[in-house]
Amino acid sequence: SMVPDYLADALADVEPDTSGALADYIPELAAADPGRLGAAFATVDGEVYGAGDVDVELTIQSISKPFAYALALADRGFDAVLAKVGVEPSGEAFNEISLEPATGRPRNPMINAGAITTHALAGVAGLGPAGRVERVLDGLSAFAGRRLRVDEGVCASELEHAHRNLAIGHLLRSHGVLTEDPDAVVEGYTRQCSVLVTTRDLALMAATLANRGVNPRTGERVVPEPVVRQVLSVMATCGMYDAAGDWATQVGIPAKSGVAGGLIGALPGQIGIATFSPRLDQHGNSVRGVSLFGRFSADMGLHVMEVP
Ligand code: GLU
Repeated sequence: SMVPDYLADALADVEPDTSGALADYIPELAAADPGRLGAAFATVDGEVYGAGDVDVELTIQSISKPFAYALALADRGFDAVLAKVGVEPSGEAFNEISLEPATGRPRNPMINAGAITTHALAGVAGLGPAGRVERVLDGLSAFAGRRLRVDEGVCASELEHAHRNLAIGHLLRSHGVLTEDPDAVVEGYTRQCSVLVTTRDLALMAATLANRGVNPRTGERVVPEPVVRQVLSVMATCGMYDAAGDWATQVGIPAKSGVAGGLIGALPGQIGIATFSPRLDQHGNSVRGVSLFGRFSADMGLHVMEVP
């Protein structure tokens, strides 16, 4: 296959770009190696191609949000989840304290307010904080096709500085969107964000979405097909925070970024794509990841609004 050479060439082209900065609101993330660079494609047939640092672990961070949303939809059903979390793009930063004024309902599951609420909806009702974290870890592992684990160092580091997410949690509790101890929910959400993945894992997780919810390597059905449509639609409109419109027009692939420098995209029926480069732009998206996706989209005609 020529794919690994193509990927290596693409990495070499973006490699000199050292603009952007590491996320520093989590001290452990500020200690990451900023030079890391990797990209992987996983097809719906289960082929995985990679170049660069594809086997280096990073924390999943916000890339966990669409997958946790998928699990909540699968576990609780659409009505129960939509009653608590909307699907309207907010065009705001990831940690914006953004709730619908009348109801206190978070606007979408990709901003932290919605993602914290979504975490509380994973698993069967009444599961409790520890069981919920297990459900999310099991579910993320099924998407990846291998057993994943939490980076306890990153998790502890983020929890020490989680004042803003705790404030969001308490606000959600005051509106009755959360009906339980918000501190425990935010801790569980932080554990979810601290799950370690490789770029290869991320490509397979995206490929599972691209493959109607069936992991293309293990053959496991992770979530039902209607859930996948919902998740990809929300990624397409809300996945890139306040850069969602630029992304939709220029790249045109349902996507999700995370502050550790990961970025995924999923093209229904085709492939999952993942990149890793820790320096972030002002929106919190990976600088070289955004460049790579722009290039992949243009080179291969992947924009969903283009006739293939
Ligand atoms: N753990 C991060 C937070 O909630 C995730 C943010 C992100 O990756 O954008 O602040």
